[in-house]
Amino acid sequence: MDENSLKYERQREEMVRKQIEARGVTDPNVLAAMRKVPRHLFVSEALRDQAYGDFPLPIGEQQTISQPYIVAEMTQALQPGKDDRILEIGTGSGYQAAVLAEIVFRVYTIEKIHALHIKTRKLFDALHYHNIVTKYSDGTAGWADEGPFDGIIVTAGSPSIPTPLVSQLAVGGCMVIPVGDQYSQELIKLYKDETGIHKINLGGCRFVKLVGEYGWRS
Ligand code: SAH
Repeated sequence: MDENSLKYERQREEMVRKQIEARGVTDPNVLAAMRKVPRHLFVSEALRDQAYGDFPLPIGEQQTISQPYIVAEMTQALQPGKDDRILEIGTGSGYQAAVLAEIVFRVYTIEKIHALHIKTRKLFDALHYHNIVTKYSDGTAGWADEGPFDGIIVTAGSPSIPTPLVSQLAVGGCMVIPVGDQYSQELIKLYKDETGIHKINLGGCRFVKLVGEYGWRS
């Protein structure tokens, strides 16, 4: 381990204690994953020293990697289990997918910007995340061939909940999605059981736009 990785490990520990545990995230698997994934490798070299700060960062193509706390909160809300197959819409930097990949059996992640899709696939390979499957397409239509999924996480803001995603969610599964206008959204947790679909509002958030057939049109 070189000097820098020790430095980043300390920053990561502080991030988990001050930003994540302090705000009430308790799922031990989520906390362990946040302590493990090297977030500094998911941003450009120039931003590495800011990677563990309490804020989102730009990742190119006008997109962002979410604030650490929001990643932890959304991951906990999904109630991920070790045998789960999870669908993520909006691969971006790959950080959220990597956090999930530490916990679950397999992560399927879709990105609609080709440059991000390619760059992040290479990073997953370099970091040996062999249980992450990537796809370049409009994620608002989901990934019908691989569904149903035990959980679905959408990491971009949508005007409404895309209907294909609801159909591709297994009974007993949760979906976490920011819903609202382009400036602010509510984080919605939806779950499906034998009696139907239920929704809980987890509070305000702010994401880039989910652009696609069942999201924003542009
Ligand atoms: N989960 C990411 C967050 C990236 S920001 C991370 O951990 O870094 C949201 C991402 O969603 C952007 O990369 C954006 O290009 C992507 N996106 C927006 N609309 C999409 C769509 N319809 N299908 C797939 N990806 C989409």
